[in-house]
Amino acid sequence: MKLGFDIDDTLINLREHAFHIYNQKLQQNIGLEVFQALPTMEIHSAFALSKEQGGKLWHSLRDEIYYSDCATFPHAREALLQLVEQVSENNKVFS
Ligand SMILES: [Mg+2]
Repeated sequence: MKLGFDIDDTLINLREHAFHIYNQKLQQNIGLEVFQALPTMEIHSAFALSKEQGGKLWHSLRDEIYYSDCATFPHAREALLQLVEQVSENNKVFS
């Protein structure tokens, strides 16, 4: 059995990671409570950016957002390791 997972905003907290990068790049200090109150997946409105401006910023920072040290959600790693162990045990039973 093989398992597949979405990673962004499922196992890793990518939006919040991007929010911190936006704060840094835009020399802002928007609080995390603003991020947590966002009603949309997009984060640009927290920085008073239009959808177009937000899209351009995300695109320009894409490598830094996706390929830097983004935190996992609490228990994500442990849950994956537990699933791997369970699949491994099941494979032993059925092989
Ligand atoms: Mg995702």
